[in-house]
Amino acid sequence: MTQPSVTLGRKGVERWKSGHPWIYQADLDKPPESLTGGEVVRVVDHKGYLLGQAFFSRESKISLRWMSWNDTPVDADLFRARIKAADALRRRVYPGETTYRVIHGEADLLPGLVVDRFGDWLSIQLMTKGTEHRKEMIADLLTEHFGCKGIVNRSDGSVRHLEGLLPEKGVLRGPTPPLLTYREGHVAIEVDLLQGQKTGAFLDQRDNHVMASEYGTGEALDCFSYVGGFALQLALKAQKVTAVEISEGACVQIRANAARNSLTNVEVIAANAFDFLRDALDEGRSFDTIVLDPPSFAKNKNALEAAVRGYKEINLRAMQLLKPGGTLITASCTYHVPEDRFEEMLDRAASDARRRVQIVEKRGAGKDHPVLLGLRETRYLKCYVLRVN
Ligand code: SAH
Repeated sequence: MTQPSVTLGRKGVERWKSGHPWIYQADLDKPPESLTGGEVVRVVDHKGYLLGQAFFSRESKISLRWMSWNDTPVDADLFRARIKAADALRRRVYPGETTYRVIHGEADLLPGLVVDRFGDWLSIQLMTKGTEHRKEMIADLLTEHFGCKGIVNRSDGSVRHLEGLLPEKGVLRGPTPPLLTYREGHVAIEVDLLQGQKTGAFLDQRDNHVMASEYGTGEALDCFSYVGGFALQLALKAQKVTAVEISEGACVQIRANAARNSLTNVEVIAANAFDFLRDALDEGRSFDTIVLDPPSFAKNKNALEAAVRGYKEINLRAMQLLKPGGTLITASCTYHVPEDRFEEMLDRAASDARRRVQIVEKRGAGKDHPVLLGLRETRYLKCYVLRVN
């Protein structure tokens, strides 16, 4: 069977030259009707010159995601080599570690695939038809590489709609995993791979959690706490930590994690953080350290302005609530809000709060979430450490 081909227009070829990993619908000639999505196609220019091979998608605005820049078959051997290369990077940057993101989609040249490892268990997200149609092969290769006990499929995020795929959640290999415990510095965290958010944990913030322990002093506040990643680190040294989280289920886990680490100084409040911050100001409260790590406020470009307003509201209030010289650790995982916009928002919040604010550190996701140069989407996480005078 001959491999189907698609042809790029002039703009598409320009994008290919720039090394960007995607080609949009408008930048290729009408693809053959026979293609339904998920196929690996040969990509050529108008003269028939081979540019590479890519996953094709019919529904998404992103029509092509490059898998190779030559004619080597895109088969199990190629996937095996990419998995091996991705894992080798993690073993180098986190030697001896067994919990990390193994595969970070495009940044590991495996578009549409995310894999997190928690010791003997893997949690995966298949976000495109290209990876969905190859899930058995991918599961086999991961089992072969890690000798893992099981794999959970957490393809229940909303992005799959863009590819015309329904959400899916369940066990892909092995038995139902037990609750798992992994370490973040001196803190043990329990995760539920099947019922937790995303893949079970937000491993991208792991190094930032550990960093936050340096700022545990006096009275601390962690807003949007999830299972307490920041709160527990602060509690190692602070007198008291208040963790605010809207999900009751996550609140139960914060309490359990605090008990697991014998931390008796964590108060968990199930509330909307926006309301909590406003009420705390009305009550004249103040804190030595505040962490803000909200969920993404913008799922697309159109929502950018509203997202920036949301960030400004919570950051302004946090600055007002901090004692002079207090620390604000403030994060954003919205890639539609780039670093310069985020910083501009912080600047405005500081002037509205009439506080002089120093940037102490600018951080991103951990080293197991590499950034692909040229693909801003892989540089989504911003985490600033500020001193609020
Ligand atoms: N800080 C966490 C990750 C946060 S993810 C960590 O480092 O691991 C965002 C969390 O915010 C989710 O747990 C979600 O349930 C919670 N959340 C969403 N909207 C909220 C709101 N308005 N108020 C408080 N929590 C909220």
